[in-house]
Amino acid sequence: MNVFVTPILVFVSIFSDISAQFYGDPPDETHPWAVHDNNRPQPMEVKPGSFIGNPPSDAKILFDGTKKSFLKNWEHENPRRKKNWIVRNQRLISVKGAGSLISKAKFADCQLHIEWSAPMKIVGSGQGRGNSGVFLMGETEVQILDNYNNPTYPDGFAGSVYGVMPPMVNALKAPGEWQTYDIIFRRPVHKNGMILDEGSLTVLLNGVVVQDNTPLEGGGLHKNRSQSRVFPIVGPLKLQDHGNPVQFRNIWYRELRKRPIEGGTDGALSSTATYKKRTEIAESILNKTQNEDGVKKLLLLMEALCYEDDDEVKFTAHGLSEKIIMSIQKYPEGNKKDAKQIYQALKYLEAHKIIDKEHPNTVLLEKIIKKEGWEK
Ligand code: MG
Repeated sequence: MNVFVTPILVFVSIFSDISAQFYGDPPDETHPWAVHDNNRPQPMEVKPGSFIGNPPSDAKILFDGTKKSFLKNWEHENPRRKKNWIVRNQRLISVKGAGSLISKAKFADCQLHIEWSAPMKIVGSGQGRGNSGVFLMGETEVQILDNYNNPTYPDGFAGSVYGVMPPMVNALKAPGEWQTYDIIFRRPVHKNGMILDEGSLTVLLNGVVVQDNTPLEGGGLHKNRSQSRVFPIVGPLKLQDHGNPVQFRNIWYRELRKRPIEGGTDGALSSTATYKKRTEIAESILNKTQNEDGVKKLLLLMEALCYEDDDEVKFTAHGLSEKIIMSIQKYPEGNKKDAKQIYQALKYLEAHKIIDKEHPNTVLLEKIIKKEGWEK
C-alpha cells in the first residue's frame, strides 16, 4: 500500500459516519457534483469475465454458441429469404443468399465484443475475400474482411469504418484463426437541426487500436461520400451476408452511460442542466434530514446548501447550529468531535462563499474550540 494514501483515508474516515462532504470544491455553474462527491452514486459493481473477452456480469449476450441463443436473439433481415444462417460447432456461420442477420435487441451507444473468423480456404480477392460486416444500429459498418495478404482500398479494410476511415494498422491473423473486435460506439446526436455530436467509433482489432474515437461523418456508404445525418434513437446490430462463409462467436454488448448532451450528469453540463441536477441532489439530502436530529441534521442541511442556495434551509441551519453551539458552550464535555465537525463544515461554507465570512456561529465555535484546547 502506498503510504502517502494513508493520511487522506484517515481524514475521510473521521467524517464518513455522516458524509465525506465539506472536502473537495463544491458544485459550480457547469458541474452538479462537488469534487470527490460522496452523494454521487457508487460505480455499479460488475464482475469481469474470467478471461478478457468473456462477457462481464452486466453484458447482454447476443450469441453464446448455442442454437437457442441464436434463435432467441437474432432474426433475418429479409423474412422471405430461402436460406438460413447456420449454427454449427458453437459458431454462427454466414450463408450466401441468406441475407443479413439483425439482432432482436435494439440499442444505441454500446461496448460490443464480437469474434469472427474468415474462411480458411482462400477464395477471391480484395472485397471478395472473407467479407462480412458489423453494422452498429444497422447503420454504420465496421468492415469484416480477410485482409491477410489481401490488399484492397484502405477505407474498406477490416477494422475500417467502411467508406469513412481506414484502420490505423492491419492487425489481422491468418484466415481460419479467430479475430476479436472490441468496439465502442456513440450514435450521432442532433438537436433542433444542430449537430451536437457527430457520433464515433473506437475499435480494437485483436487488442490493437485501429479506430480512435473516429467521427462517423454520416456512417459511410459504398462509393458515395456520406453526409452527417440523424440516426434513429435505437437500432439492431446487423451482421452482413456478403456471400462469404464468415463465422462468428462470443457476441455481447454493454450499454454506455449517457453523455451530458443526452441528459447524463457526469462531466461538464450546461448551466441549466447543472442547476436542475443540483436541485435534485439537494432534495435527496434534505429528505434524509427528516429522520435526523441534532448534529447529523445540521450537517445534512449544510451539505444541501452546497448544492442549492436556499434561504429557508439557511435559516433552519442557522437556528439549529446556534442552538447546538450554545449547548456545546454550556456542556463542552464529550462534544469535541461534534464541535470540530460543525466547525469544519462552517469554514468550508465560508471558504466557498456559500455563507458569509466571520459568521457569528463560526466565531463563537472557534472561541469554544480554543478555550477547550480542541485544536488538535
Ligand atoms: Mg462488409
